[in-house]
Amino acid sequence: MTEISTDELNAAINGEVVTSGVEGYDQGRAIWNGRFDRRPDVVVRCVSADDVKAAVDFARTRGLPLAVKAGGHSNAGHSAIEGGLLIDLGPMKGISVDPAMKTARVEPGVKWGEFNPIAEQHGLATPGGTISTVGVAGFTLGGGSGYLTRKHGMAVDNLLSVELVTADGRIVRASADENPDLFWGLRGGGGNFGIVTAFEFRLHEVGPEVLAGQIMHRLEDAPELLRSFREFMANAPDELQCYPFFLRIPPIDAFPEEFHGQVVLDFVVFHTDAGPDGEAALRPLIELGDPVISAVAPQSYSSVMEAFDAGLPAGQRYGSRAHYLTGITDDVIETIMTHAAGMAGPFTVAYLDPGGGAPSRVDPSATAFPHRDAAFGFHIISGWMDSDQDDEVSAWADAFHQAMSRHATGGVYVNLLGPDETDRVRAAYGDNFERLAELKKKWDPDNLFRSTYNVKPSG
Ligand SMILES: Cc1cc2nc3c(=O)[nH]c(=O)nc-3n(C[C@H](O)[C@H](O)[C@H](O)COP(=O)(O)OP(=O)(O)OC[C@H]3O[C@@H](n4cnc5c(N)ncnc54)[C@H](O)[C@@H]3O)c2cc1C
Repeated sequence: MTEISTDELNAAINGEVVTSGVEGYDQGRAIWNGRFDRRPDVVVRCVSADDVKAAVDFARTRGLPLAVKAGGHSNAGHSAIEGGLLIDLGPMKGISVDPAMKTARVEPGVKWGEFNPIAEQHGLATPGGTISTVGVAGFTLGGGSGYLTRKHGMAVDNLLSVELVTADGRIVRASADENPDLFWGLRGGGGNFGIVTAFEFRLHEVGPEVLAGQIMHRLEDAPELLRSFREFMANAPDELQCYPFFLRIPPIDAFPEEFHGQVVLDFVVFHTDAGPDGEAALRPLIELGDPVISAVAPQSYSSVMEAFDAGLPAGQRYGSRAHYLTGITDDVIETIMTHAAGMAGPFTVAYLDPGGGAPSRVDPSATAFPHRDAAFGFHIISGWMDSDQDDEVSAWADAFHQAMSRHATGGVYVNLLGPDETDRVRAAYGDNFERLAELKKKWDPDNLFRSTYNVKPSG
């Protein structure tokens, strides 16, 4: 590790400047995925945009490698860094909701599980993810999709403005009217162009309750069920979302003992309306086949997003592999059946993510996020505990991912790329890549923000 004299930083920062051995260092550097146990030379725990600016200036003027951490859920470990300076935005937790304007201002240390209950007090929400521990910041900058997306769009479609610190240490605002080129790039281009210190979102009336839950089926029934599901989803309203998950039932009392350790097909269902309309829309799925567990009930939107939190605990070892698919053909179903049964890793899940709805009605060049017409996303989160299982679990996930590539569009959601997939970054940005590279040249010509799914400055 490099010895960094922190006196100057300390003088400029209102938050904390911590180095190895100092309280707060481990909390500051830790991210969700335990595979990225990296030790920066210094962690700057920022409490304001001015802190972020001071840290950026410090790193730039000394040529220090820099990484930025918000919610810490980067699948590629970009928010962890060995040596250099880590900007931890975690302490920036400000949230303010304007119920009359239906907008919210959110600071970058906020996680979805912290934001949702506050917006919910006003009967409002904006599209967040499927896991409450994910950070608003990284999620939004990559695109952001979840239960409300088919109805209300991606997170980037609901972003009204941002404040950010640029590579040269300016604090600027970007919106449709101010720095519109930058605003375009921030809506899907990740952390390549600056450090966002506040997001302004459009909110929507949601709830107070939605209809949601899980319907689990035996794996052997999955082919027929998936064929019915694809017909059902083709005509489903935007208010409805259903993710078919494949997961191994954990050996806990909440599940019947005979299913402990079994891989099941779990329809994770959601409808924005907890009343009769939602129930009628979900009924064909609820009545499908012969489920082993069926629990669908009115509940708050924020509690829906917490359903998978415990199944993906922080600090374990995780991998990520993803595609976009053109559809769920019989070949896709066969490929899933070949690989799902041998699912490796106690926290592993694989799921399909239906597209369509509001995002598909936005032009792919309107924001940096390009994958507007993909019929389905496909994602494997592999999760395990010990490093001696790294090879076994990764080999299973890679074989599954490779087999699914026959059915894929070639594109991939940037937020789901693994650390070893730099060769897929261009595919992740699709036809918007060149424009992003031009933008990078303008806003970060020396590539200070390179601990990202990196777009290099053009030329
Ligand atoms: C368990 C799990 C579930 C997920 N579920 C979903 C889902 O349902 N839908 C979905 O769309 N995605 C999902 N994702 C992907 C998720 O959106 C990305 O991992 C996202 O980058 C996480 O954001 P974060 O702030 O938590 O992560 P971080 O690790 O803090 O940041 C991720 C990246 O964004 C950069 N960054 C963070 N904050 C800023 C900022 N303020 N300014 C500039 N750059 C910044 C970081 O430098 C890093 O490169 C999931 C990921 C995981 C691990």
